[in-house]
Parts: sequence; structure tokens; C-alpha cells
Amino acid sequence: MSSLWIKNGRVIDPASKRDGTGDVFAIDGRFVDSLSAADKKRAKVIDAKGLVVAPGLVDIHVHFREPGQTHKENILTGSRAAAAGGFTTVVCMPNTSPVIDNAGTLQLVNAAAAKAAVRVYPTACITVGMQGKQLAPHGTLKTNGAVALTDDGLCIQSNELMRRAVEYAKMFDLCVLDHCQDDSLTEKAVMNEGAVSTRLGLKGWPHAAEDIIVARNIILSHYSGAHVHMQHISSAYSVELLRRAKKDGVRVTAEATPHHIALTDEALATYDTHFKMNPPLRTEADRQAIIAGLKDGTLDCIGTDHAPHSPDEKDREFDYAPNGIIGLETALAVTLDVLVGEARFKLPYVIDLMTRRAANVLKLPAGTLAEGANADVCLFDPTEQWIYDATKGQSKSRNSPWHGKKLTGRAKTTIVGGNVVFDDGAIV
Ligand SMILES: [Zn+2]
Repeated sequence: MSSLWIKNGRVIDPASKRDGTGDVFAIDGRFVDSLSAADKKRAKVIDAKGLVVAPGLVDIHVHFREPGQTHKENILTGSRAAAAGGFTTVVCMPNTSPVIDNAGTLQLVNAAAAKAAVRVYPTACITVGMQGKQLAPHGTLKTNGAVALTDDGLCIQSNELMRRAVEYAKMFDLCVLDHCQDDSLTEKAVMNEGAVSTRLGLKGWPHAAEDIIVARNIILSHYSGAHVHMQHISSAYSVELLRRAKKDGVRVTAEATPHHIALTDEALATYDTHFKMNPPLRTEADRQAIIAGLKDGTLDCIGTDHAPHSPDEKDREFDYAPNGIIGLETALAVTLDVLVGEARFKLPYVIDLMTRRAANVLKLPAGTLAEGANADVCLFDPTEQWIYDATKGQSKSRNSPWHGKKLTGRAKTTIVGGNVVFDDGAIV
């Protein structure tokens, strides 16, 4: 029997409405409400004085590039980046090479996930080859461990096929995660369409391309009763559409990334490709609307869209550089800075957005310190100021706009199933 005793920290567990100085106990990988005197004697004791003791963070949107693009990241290095950022549960996207659209590839991913530093759950493709033409075998994908279906990176353009997809997925109680983009409106687009794209002479990606697909998905969810989750919402009007849909009881959920709440398209003024992502950074009004959407629950959670790329790929002409940034190791600090520091959210609510609410979207067994739950913990210092050095991170890639920047708030110790996997800057 192994026991764990975390003492003296500020324990915040929104799921059990806990916020105060206290103890957290675990035996054999699960939380318990108390330890016997004998268990206390042999417990591993962690002094959390000055730290917040929260459930391990949950991210339902990461790209770990395995199989096929492991020069950017693999499941082990990605999971270490997660641990370093305080995350204990992550959901990886299937746009690998080959894509994850069959049982064999899922089994390969599951085998790698079994050796990862944190809990890694795979998703699988909605369509065969992620080509948006023919449905993948959803039932088989679920049987082999897929926790949701997505063609993330691409968006199914045919409304008819998307209708079949959500109805078929619903039969297996699987959520469809959608990257909302009408391709006919975004051909060759590299940034948000607006005043800044005009000034910079770059081809614009109008938010209407996201709004149209968000509306389409709301309509199909309303029509079929299927659960559709909108990934990385970037547009104010999409937030408004989702707000109304939720009010109407439509079964939709949505996420926002740390970069879309922290940055705007003004950051592209220097043509730095570390600010190039899809969907693109948008205007201040969009950023404010996303924050408001998180505040009133229109947007369910934070998802990083951790997207590793090698330096030679990112260091190219703006038009040709790939989209995306890494985010697992900076997500907590960036989110705290915007939502607590700037927008004055209460700290427990921000933790809720990064733990229980994220887990709930896909019904994952994570996001609480309650008795019986997996003993996954994130201990962080909400006030520590530090300079993020992407070259010293756990991810294989370094493509972060926060490299060299001062951040506030840092994961100190990460615990998965009662075992310390990250402590004081190093993987254990
Ligand atoms: Zn995407």
C-alpha cells in the first residue's frame, strides 16, 4: 500500500466546493478522506505551504504527432510537457501520419500512452483518411479506446456528411469535436481578415468562416440530439451563437485556447510566425467576447491546442509556415494572467475551467480531488514570476510566442495516480 499526504496547501476543488487550507490524502492511487495513524506514518508527505493544491489539469486538445511526425513531438515528450504544465489528463488529436482512423493505429497510440508520464486519451477520425468523404468505423474506434471523434485541422465541408457523422457517433455515445472552418471562405488565408491584415498585406480568414460552421453544427445538434463540441472558438459572433444555442438546450459544448484569450491579430505586426495559428488570432472585441463566454459558461473549458512544429518549419516566410504553437507548459500561467489578473475571475472558477469542466465535456474520469477519484494533483504557485525558456522545456518543439517572456504562476509538482511525475522543474 502506498499512501500520500499533502499538507499545508490552499486546497481548491470546485467539484466538491472545497477552498481552504487543508490536507489531501491518497491510498493506492485514489483520494481518501483520511489516513489512519499507521498510514500517516508511512505516507509520502508533501509540504504544500504557499501553494495551491488543485485537481490535475485536464486538456482535451493536444497534438502529440505520434505516429509519423515524431521529430516534432511524441507521446512521451508531449506527456512530459503536460506534466511540467500541471496537466495530468490530456486528449490527443488524430491528425497524425498515418491518421488515427482504424483500430491498428489506435492500438499503437494506446501502447505509447501506457508508458506516458500522464494519462493520454486518444481521439480518432470522423472520416476515413480525414478526407471528409466517407465515415470511419466509429464503433470499432470506440471499442479500441477513442474517447471522441474529430478531423481536427480540417473541417467536414459537406453538411450531409456531417449530419451522418453526428448521428452515427451518437449511436456510440461519442462526441464529435469540430474544427469550425468553411474552406471556401479561407482559401490561402493566413491571418484574421480585418484592418491588420489589410495593413500587413496578408490574406485574411474572416470570422464568418467559423461562424457559419458553428451555426451549422448547432443546427445539426439540435436536429439530431447529438453532442457536438466546437474546438478553439475565436470569434465573438460564434460565442453569441453558442450562448443562444445553450439557452435553447442544444447539446453543444465549446473550448477556448490560452492564446485566443491573451493575444490579438496586432501581434502579427512583425510577421513573427509564432503568432500564426488556425483559427487565427482575432481582434480585441473577439478576445473580450471569448473571455465573457468563459465567464458565463457559454464556453466550457480551456484547451491548449498544443501544436508542436520544428524550428525549420516555423522559421519560413509567413505564408508558408505551419499553423500552431506549443502551449502545455505555459497554459496555466497565461490563463491565470488573463482570467484572474486581467478579467478578475475567481481563482477556483479558473481551476474549474481547466479541470472538471474540461473533463465533463468528454465524461473523462478526472478533474476532482473527491474521495475515490484518481489521485491526480497539480500543485502550483500562483504568484511565482519566471521567465519561460522554450529551449529548456519538456516538449521536443519550441514554437511558443511566450519564449523569453515573464510569466506569473507556475506548476511546481504534478502527481498522477498518487505518484509524483514532475517536481521542481524536472520530470521524476
Ligand atoms: Zn484545430
